[in-house]
Amino acid sequence: MIVNISTREFYLIWRNVWKSLPQQVRGELATSIGLVEETPSHRDSSFVYGCYSPAGPRTGNIQLYTKDLSHLSGCAIAGVMAHELGHAYCHLKRGDPAPCRPEIDTGANCMASAWGFQQELQALEEERKPAIDS
Ligand SMILES: [Zn+2]
Repeated sequence: MIVNISTREFYLIWRNVWKSLPQQVRGELATSIGLVEETPSHRDSSFVYGCYSPAGPRTGNIQLYTKDLSHLSGCAIAGVMAHELGHAYCHLKRGDPAPCRPEIDTGANCMASAWGFQQELQALEEERKPAIDS
């Protein structure tokens, strides 16, 4: 796994999230995720903070949209990262396709919750709301 995160704040959060994963999961993901990288912004910038793209039957890449992430708290950013790792693990284990359907997102959140990231996912949920409600 190549981690190409040059923003120090995001890198430190990533490192914490990664270290919080169960050891066995970390071992499996380390060889199945090819690249984790910062990308300035999602092209629609419609509150999409990250993306997991399958690159093969058991491999894929994670993109983190730096510009969009910068509007979130550290806790919510960790939620985004755990969610994308959830996608990667669901893809590895069950062959889940690219996350274009709500139930695929739910699977990623279930996985991240099982790893102990409930608080981070909750923060993400709360912080992405105001933009839609207001
Ligand atoms: Zn998702």
